[in-house]
Formats: sequence, structure tokens, C-alpha cells
Amino acid sequence: MEIKKLDTLPEKIIIPLRQHRGAVCEPLVKKGDRVLVGQKIGESDEYYSSSVHSSVCGEVLAIEEAAHPDGNKVMSVVIQPEESNESVEFPKCGDITSDQLADFIKESGIVEHYGMPTHTVLRPKGKKIDTVLINATSSEWIGGTFKTPADYASQMIDALKMLIKAAGAKNGAIVLRTDDQASIDAFESIEIDGKNLQVAPLVGSRKMGYYLNEQDSNIVVLSQERIFGKKILNFFTYNVTGRKVKIGCDPTSVGVAVCGIKSAKALYDAVNEGRPFYDTVVSIEGVSDKMEYILVKIGTPFKDVIDSYGYTGEIGKIIANGVRTGVAQYTDQVPVTKGTTRISIQKPEEVIRDESIECIHCARCVDVCPVALIPSRLAVMADQGRFDECRQINIDNCIECGDCAAVCPSKIHILQLIRYAKDAIEMAYENLPEKESSNLKLGCGCGGE
Ligand code: SF4
Ligand code: SF4
Repeated sequence: MEIKKLDTLPEKIIIPLRQHRGAVCEPLVKKGDRVLVGQKIGESDEYYSSSVHSSVCGEVLAIEEAAHPDGNKVMSVVIQPEESNESVEFPKCGDITSDQLADFIKESGIVEHYGMPTHTVLRPKGKKIDTVLINATSSEWIGGTFKTPADYASQMIDALKMLIKAAGAKNGAIVLRTDDQASIDAFESIEIDGKNLQVAPLVGSRKMGYYLNEQDSNIVVLSQERIFGKKILNFFTYNVTGRKVKIGCDPTSVGVAVCGIKSAKALYDAVNEGRPFYDTVVSIEGVSDKMEYILVKIGTPFKDVIDSYGYTGEIGKIIANGVRTGVAQYTDQVPVTKGTTRISIQKPEEVIRDESIECIHCARCVDVCPVALIPSRLAVMADQGRFDECRQINIDNCIECGDCAAVCPSKIHILQLIRYAKDAIEMAYENLPEKESSNLKLGCGCGGE
């Protein structure tokens, strides 16, 4: 898979001081300063934060609130880039302890694409991680900045070992997609502990523990169908390990850290090249069948990425991170961040502006829901502000895949209503006791543990 590199320099680079969940970083530079590639420009003493680095060499024009792809405004460092690629010295990591590696991950600005700083996933306060998973089931990252599938496979194995070390965990797995034959072949050509690696399919009750025993290894590579959705972590954890995550909790509550390909690659580069997380691969799609993958400096405005894609016509809508579940942008000056995976553009005539009509009780949304919810009922309750009842029928299990809204003939904005209710519940019930999930198992096809 070919990766383009965005070579043209944008007029300005906008680097948000928060590209993760948690505290906004304090700026370490001021207007008029000259910064170098890789220079740390923001940090925070808070545990739930991650350092921010400059992706270019140039002059700081301003430190001001600017549009962020999550739809908010965030304090950002605006830089006028220079042609020069002068960078800070990138020291390689060397032999370090597990604690030092966790600190190094925070210092290198490594965060998960779903928002959590990676060191907080590996070392959650008050919890112990024994298993690390790398979710490689999203095809857009296969290829990424890797030259060949073999290159990708060996780097991911190395990254998994580092993540296991940083977490102080025992076991780890990389999970591929069953239809990603190039990657499966690449992993199967690798040796671990003198044995050829076998990619094992997750079917029925054969979960990660089964294959750890069978292969007598603390690292396995598994495969499963792609699970699509914004909030798949708990579902993914159950599918791979068989551990049920209680409603309102995340996988760390059952000793599992879920990382992505992006953060694993960022860690590999940080350890081996000393360079922090300041560029990322973004896929761009729309207006034709072509999908491109572009290596972009973090802070590059969406407009520059769209220009390099070659589209010059009128744009109806720009969406960050997928048409079904992403966030529509109100400006093309919003910057690519560490969490940006995809930019979708739609022509004016492609933008769907259908008005919702009444539910016709066709149950298509129920049929497609991968976690066996009743989306139509959730939508009604959310719309009426009956958040307690939404919680009682397990709204937290929604993985935000958007399938229900996509099939709804009445064009009801089911996913938006569900997100609205989830946000309201999160604010109102922050300290409620945990509740056993009642229906997570129904979506996996194994009938239970
Ligand atoms: S309720 Fe809708 S968005 Fe949520 S998991 Fe089910 S189908 Fe997906
Ligand atoms: S798909 Fe739409 S119309 Fe059909 S039951 Fe669900 S919400 Fe109602």
C-alpha cells in the first residue's frame, strides 16, 4: 500500500496543547520563539496528560485558542514553518527499566487514537495490567509508515514487547483482521523463541488464553473479523480475552491494556530513533473512489491535506474520523492531531440533509446492532431525556458503530441521540457503583465464556 508524504509546507501549523483525554499542557514556548522539529513545546505535571512536540522548524506566531477536530476550541501553538528541517537531537532510548519506559512514553507524547495517553493505559492508577493487546484490525494502518508487511510485522512484535515491559504485564497479543492475508503471511514468517509464529483465529471459546497455552508463549498473534465502532474497547477485550468489562469501566479494570498500531509504531520510533510523536498517517477519501494514505506533520490544517489529495471543487462537508461515526468540521483550518485517522470530504450534493420521520418499528436497527441493543428504544428514551432508563437497558454497551442509523429508513439520528444520552449519563453518574454487563456476550457469537 502506497503512502504519500505531504511535502508542501502549510502557511501555518497549529499544534493543540491537548491531543488526548486529560489535562491541557502548559506551553513551553512563547510568541516569537524559534522552535525546531521534535522540540517539546507543551507539557503537564498531571498524570493524565502527554507532552506535545513541534512537527516543524519555525517561528511561534501565537499561543491561542484554535479549532480542534473534536469540535471544541483548544489552546494551541501556532507556528510559521521554515523550509529548514533543523531538529533537536533525538537521543535513543538505550537499556531502561520498566518505570523509565513508562515515563519515556509520556515524555515522547504517545497517545492512543481513542484519546487516552498510552502510559495511563499501561499503568492505570490503582490497577494492575497483566495483558497488553495491539488492535491491528483497522485496515487503514496496515502499511502506515512501514516499508513492507515484513517490516511492519517485526516492528509490531518489538513494540508489543516494549508495551508489555512498560506495563509490567505477563502476556500480549497482536490482533489482525482475518481477511488481511498480507499481514498474516508477514507475521507467520517471523520466529519467536526459535519457533515459527502461527496466526491463530479467535473462534468460539478459543480465546487468547487458549492460544497462549497451546503455543507455550507469552506473545500470540490472533485474527478476528473487523469490529467497527468508536467505542469498541470493551467489546474487543471480551472477544479477545473472554474477560467481561463492567458497564462504566474500561478494559484496564480487568487487567487489559488496549493499544493501537499508531501508538505502537510511535513507541517503536521513539525507542529506536529517539524521535517523539509528531507525524501520523491519515487516510483521505471522498469525491471519487480513491482512498489515499498520507504521512502528515501533526498540526497541518485539513485544507492542506485535502489540496494534496487533488480535490479543488466545492466542498459540502468535511468529516474527521469516518463518515458514520466521525465529527463534521466547521472549518478546513482545523489541524491534524495524533487522534486523526481519516478525513472524509463530501460534495454539496452528497451531503444528506434528510429530515427524520417517525419510527415505523421495522426493527432493522435491532437486527444490525452487534451488541444486541434495541437502538430504536434507546433513541426514544434519549430524545425524551429518560437517561436512567437508557442506562437500565445498557446504553453503555453501545460501541458507536453507527450501523443502526445507517439502516434506519426513517433517517432517525439514532447514534447522535445515543451519544447525547451517554454524555448526560457520564456527567450525572460519574461515581455510581459498577454494574455487571448483561448483554456483551450476545454479540460475539460464542454464547458466553
Ligand atoms: S446501538 Fe447502534 S451504534 Fe450502538 S452498537 Fe448498536 S448498532 Fe452500533
Ligand atoms: S430502523 Fe429506524 S424506523 Fe426501524 S425500528 Fe429502528 S429506529 Fe425505527
